[in-house]
Parts: sequence; C-alpha cells; structure tokens
Amino acid sequence: MSKLTNKALFLDRDGVINVERCYVYRRDDFLFQEGIFDLCRAAQNLGYLLVVVTNQAGIARGFYTEAEFLALTGWMIEEFGRHGSTIARVYYCPYHPIHGVGRYKKDSADRKPKPGMLLRARRDFNLDLTSSVLIGDKLSDIEAGKAAGVGTTILLRLGAPESSAGDSDFHVAGSLHDVCSEFFSGPHDAAKPTEISSATLSQPGGCHVGVTKSASGMGLV
Ligand SMILES: [Mg+2]
Repeated sequence: MSKLTNKALFLDRDGVINVERCYVYRRDDFLFQEGIFDLCRAAQNLGYLLVVVTNQAGIARGFYTEAEFLALTGWMIEEFGRHGSTIARVYYCPYHPIHGVGRYKKDSADRKPKPGMLLRARRDFNLDLTSSVLIGDKLSDIEAGKAAGVGTTILLRLGAPESSAGDSDFHVAGSLHDVCSEFFSGPHDAAKPTEISSATLSQPGGCHVGVTKSASGMGLV
C-alpha cells in the first residue's frame, strides 16, 4: 500500500465550495456553490480524494472562533456526505501575519499562497501532486498549487464567458459545471486518473473524515 500514490482534488472553500461572502461562519450564510456536489461526486468516481484547503483569516482576526469554524465544517462535511461525497480532510490556516490577534498573529507556512497545507496533505495521503487538481477563486490559491507542484490548477471566475486557458499555466473556468465537464467527465480527459481507483477511499489509513488545523496535525470531527 505504501507504494500506491493517490491523487486529490484540492478545493478552496470560500468562493469555490460556498458562495463568497465576507467571513462566513454560520450555516445561514453558507450557500453551497451551484455544481459543487456534482463536481465532487464526479471527481471521487474518478479516484480523486476530496481535500479542502482554506485560509481562515476570520479566526485570526477574531471574527469567529475555531470552535465555530469547526462546527460549521462538521456540518459541511455531513452535507457532502448526504450528496454522495466524502471529504477526506479539511486543512485550515487560522493565522494572519499582520491582522492576527494574539496567538493567531503568525506568518504561517500554511497560509496560501504558501503551499504548506498542500504539502502536508501530500504526506498525509501519499499524494502524487502532479496528477492532482486544485480549484481556487484567487490567484493566491493558484500560486499555492503551483508552489506545491499540483499538476492542474483551475481559477474559478464565475460568469466568465467561457472556460479557457489562463494567461500562463493555469486554467480559467466560468462555472463548476464547466470544470466538471472539462476535467472530470470521464476517463478520456487530461486529468484522468492513472493508477488508483475509488477503492483507495476505503483503504486503512488512506482517507477519513477529519479536520486538520494548520501546523498542529490535530485531527478533529
Ligand atoms: Mg476563496
């Protein structure tokens, strides 16, 4: 099993999983992005582990607590489960180098555009990052993916007229439906799985529902 390499679909949270609003920490403000469940099911069926990587500066700034974030995250994971997807793990960075309050004022290697969370996921799940995919709504997401060596990075620009290649070496997509059809529609697309299958999801130690805090390795939920 140790020789197996897995691949992941890395998902930013705000602006990708849920509609971007300022510092979402309550269910009432958490609106799932159209197409996110279909996309995750399709990716999972192609053997991708679903990994969330999210900066949570709202914790650093004192807008909400880690406990509130974790409660919302637990609910979010359950919602994915109800829609047929398993979130392998949620990595979050509660720090901010300038605006953080107290112990949350920290220049963390996990805060995107730094690749810390992605590199930890690589270790935790024995990921082949070159065959992994990242979707973010900010260039800092893309930069983190590139810095980690993620093979396919996709910038979600909702409402963009049509999907296209980005200015450089990332993709731009106007909707999650476009991402799904272009990258996860079946075995013939560019991001197809190579050597693992969905069976990986049930391997011991390979994947479990959990939340991992930046730089602590603490597994929760
Ligand atoms: Mg975002």
